[in-house]
Amino acid sequence: MKQIYLDYNSTTPLDERVLQAMLPYLREKYGNASSLHSFGREAKAGIEEAREKVADLLGAEPSEIYFTGGGTESDNMAIKGAAYSKQGKRNHIIISGIEHHAIFESAKYLEKTGFKSNYLGTDKEGFVYADKLKEKLTEETSVVSIMHANNEVGTIQDIPKLAEIAHSKGALFHTDAVQSAGKIKVNVKELGIDLLSISAHKFYGPKGAGVIFIRKGIRLTPLFHGGHHEKGRRGGTENVAGIIGLAAALEIADNMREAEHTRVSNLANYFMDEIQTKIPNVYLNGSHDNNKRIPSTVNLSFQAVEGESIILSLDMKGIAVASGSACTSGALEASHVLLSMKVPVELAQGSIRFSLGRFTTREDLEYTVSVLPEIIERLRAMSPLYKK
Ligand SMILES: *Cc1c(COP(=O)(O)O)cnc(C)c1O
Repeated sequence: MKQIYLDYNSTTPLDERVLQAMLPYLREKYGNASSLHSFGREAKAGIEEAREKVADLLGAEPSEIYFTGGGTESDNMAIKGAAYSKQGKRNHIIISGIEHHAIFESAKYLEKTGFKSNYLGTDKEGFVYADKLKEKLTEETSVVSIMHANNEVGTIQDIPKLAEIAHSKGALFHTDAVQSAGKIKVNVKELGIDLLSISAHKFYGPKGAGVIFIRKGIRLTPLFHGGHHEKGRRGGTENVAGIIGLAAALEIADNMREAEHTRVSNLANYFMDEIQTKIPNVYLNGSHDNNKRIPSTVNLSFQAVEGESIILSLDMKGIAVASGSACTSGALEASHVLLSMKVPVELAQGSIRFSLGRFTTREDLEYTVSVLPEIIERLRAMSPLYKK
């Protein structure tokens, strides 16, 4: 059976060129970067070269780039590290209501350990209200965390504006750029942020490798205490091959960025048009403006059908997609992102995220469009909710 992968926002396949860059560091260049001998120096040199490359691509200084074990770790380091470092002086944090679980659950945890927090709502397309940020921000706020591009719907926030507001009361600003890095321009100076997270496996690099950008002069309380790795900010022997792979992947994505953006936008437009022509009562979640949404993220709500049933039906046809809703102990729980955007519960439960990527072809989408109407029709025929 044909296998079609339309779940690039969950993870991406490793690019062959990235694998080739990593292989020497998995085979002969296996030294520990902290060792003084030639094996260690060789590993260390690889890491420092990767750090310079990443810094250059993000518009940062090499000394502001720290390697981590992925997006979740970078997010935790940023929000907890910033909150703890100001504890006692500033005990309040602000995040948006559409953050990834890595930020959302970290904020919940900080609440349990004595911090106050606010979750900013968004409009229907997923844009955070800047006025709400102004309203909730106080001299007590230590950190504001608002993601660059959302993983479920792709909406891109006006980060420079939001960061400027946060700075007006002396708060730090973190952005989770895991879904934007490699897809649109991510430059820490232009964004005007203090802390930023990215993860290699979202841009055709290996899993378990990430970066946190920490603007010069900012102190964070570290989460991992250990050796003097990453200048004491993150203990633990560096994942050398992962770091090499991350830098190679970011460089390739950057070189391909503009051409890919155009190619994937065209594919996504074709895909949405076909589906909306062939299937009634389908709605796009997220911004409708391709410049304000990561165009490869196509989140559609199918009225009166459960997302999970669509996933399973498409899987039987060899097509891999995701849904925001998850079946927890028998009840269908709608995505907190869609609910925060005030998508009605029924439509939130019927949402499917198609995410396109580097290896998606027109044929993949033609095939998907050819099988989807039948699936939706069959599921709707069984649905007590569907009115023709
Ligand atoms: C995938 C993802 C993460 C988590 O990154 P991992 O490297 O998988 O831990 C965080 N934020 C966003 C927006 C993501 O899409």
